[in-house]
Amino acid sequence: MRYLENEPLAPYTSWRIGGPARYFVQATSAADLASALAWAEQCNLPVFILGGGSNILVRDSGFDGLVIRVRGHEVRLEANGDTASVIVEAGAPMAGTARRLARQGWSGLEWAEGLPGTIGGALYGNAGCYGSDIATSLDRAWVLVRGETQEWSVDRFAFGYRTSVLKQMRAAGIRWQDQPIVLAAAFRLHRDDLTALAQRMERTSNERRSKTPWGASCGSVFKNPPGDSAGRLIEAAGLKGTRIGNAEIALRHANYIINLGGASSDDVLRLIDLARERVLAISGIELELEIQIVG
Ligand SMILES: Cc1cc2nc3c(=O)[nH]c(=O)nc-3n(C[C@H](O)[C@H](O)[C@H](O)COP(=O)(O)OP(=O)(O)OC[C@H]3O[C@@H](n4cnc5c(N)ncnc54)[C@H](O)[C@@H]3O)c2cc1C
Repeated sequence: MRYLENEPLAPYTSWRIGGPARYFVQATSAADLASALAWAEQCNLPVFILGGGSNILVRDSGFDGLVIRVRGHEVRLEANGDTASVIVEAGAPMAGTARRLARQGWSGLEWAEGLPGTIGGALYGNAGCYGSDIATSLDRAWVLVRGETQEWSVDRFAFGYRTSVLKQMRAAGIRWQDQPIVLAAAFRLHRDDLTALAQRMERTSNERRSKTPWGASCGSVFKNPPGDSAGRLIEAAGLKGTRIGNAEIALRHANYIINLGGASSDDVLRLIDLARERVLAISGIELELEIQIVG
């Protein structure tokens, strides 16, 4: 394993924003992960677990600790007639895995077509779209907790709308040493017609393309409040197209903030504050962040 010093994090994020990690390492197995965690503990460094970087805003000051990028991406399929269980390592791409399985005639994950990020990141935030989410597709998962691999049932994740117990633990300020890390996940699949599967994925892909603003982003910045949509509220507050520095509230979808090129984390954070203040003033609704701020 190669420990890099002062590694810029922007290229590892979909927003293309963020300063350096003091130390950075890629872990391709549970053993790599355990060894990196032990090293951080020994050096008294905080740890941040990175997946595909598609749901985080890294501050320009970077992360003063060890960033571990989870890279294991093996996929193991166990078929039993018309049903199967697939075990996917946490660093595998969510959308790529769904597409690969659909091409083999396995249905169950096609809702994730076009969803950026990894399996680990998707479990952490209970990613979802087009009528499904991780909570409804997951069978069980394996997590690393204080050096021990544990098998977790779906219930243990306490999934909710764009949240899980992992996200809640981080928000509650639990020390990194006690936070579970996803190693792999198992999903249930069933056989389906290849053409029907391809058509469903094509429809999802077209719909996604037609709705997603062009440019570097992190997807939806805020969670949708119950019964409403954050995009609608930000648009109603008159903020579509508002720019600060090189960041812009997207014209196509007001819950997206686009890096127009060279945006700083401060540009984005100021737009986030502005959206929160205006929406609160106009509707009385407090927008909650979906993304995580790092550093
Ligand atoms: C254009 C665009 C469209 C999007 N559309 C959607 C959408 O339709 N629906 C949706 O839900 N999201 C959407 N997103 C957000 C994003 O794709 C998801 O949140 C995704 O699941 C994040 O995965 P990641 O691997 O990139 O996580 P990262 O951004 O790398 O990390 C997110 C969090 O997960 C944690 N994490 C990552 N890996 C692990 C692990 N192995 N174990 C424990 N914790 C881990 C990180 O520490 C961090 O706290 C979109 C993003 C973009 C850029």
